[in-house]
Amino acid sequence: MTEAGARTAELEKGLAAVRSRIGAATKASGRANEPTLIVVTKFHPAEDVRRLAGLGVTDVGENRDQEASAKADALHELGLHWHFVGQLQSKKAKSVVRYAYAVHSVDRPQLADGLARAVAAEQDRSGRAALECFIQVSLDDDAGAHRGGAAPADVPSLAEQLAAADGLVLAGVMAVAPLGVPPEASFEKLAGISARLTTDHPAATGISAGMSQDLEVAIRYGATHLRIGSDILGSRPAVG
Ligand SMILES: *Cc1c(COP(=O)(O)O)cnc(C)c1O
Repeated sequence: MTEAGARTAELEKGLAAVRSRIGAATKASGRANEPTLIVVTKFHPAEDVRRLAGLGVTDVGENRDQEASAKADALHELGLHWHFVGQLQSKKAKSVVRYAYAVHSVDRPQLADGLARAVAAEQDRSGRAALECFIQVSLDDDAGAHRGGAAPADVPSLAEQLAAADGLVLAGVMAVAPLGVPPEASFEKLAGISARLTTDHPAATGISAGMSQDLEVAIRYGATHLRIGSDILGSRPAVG
């Protein structure tokens, strides 16, 4: 087998294993529908993303604008949904709305405002669809200290802001389970925040949660979007 063929086979194997875990966890939780699988391809080359698309992947995730925009450009013809999952500076909003289908890391009013303006301009320019926005919530007690995210108390006002903006769709909530806490406790907390959000915004049912290590727990607590990297692509190169 060629080296390229071997890499495709490796991705196929990782993807099959993750898909089977998702299927089993969905069944075990008694849910009718599987969550959307977003394959997080950060630090891996565009060729891997092309291979994944050939294996049926439709949604990919990236956490740095420079890398994401280059890959999205190079793979434009594949029609993938690009999900931005990393901390985002407001000044990068203009670039991100050129390729992103969704941003999972909206965690402050300035960023929501920046995305709203940028998407409006981009809609005038290219006629792009509305941008799906997830509010990233910090589940750490010292809010935002480690992995970013809004404090749970700030979710309602941010939700109002997103819901009121033309060109933005309030999709739901997102979180990264903090280290050192059982993921059950974290995802249960996120499910509660989601339930409160949907009281005011019934369509904002998205829960973006679950990574390679904790996808089963996330599914049990209602995740609608999983963000899986290393269990499909292997470990990320140390320098990137
Ligand atoms: C890298 C990343 C993931 C994927 O994590 P894995 O442990 O590799 O599955 C998910 N979400 C975010 C926000 C990430 O940065």
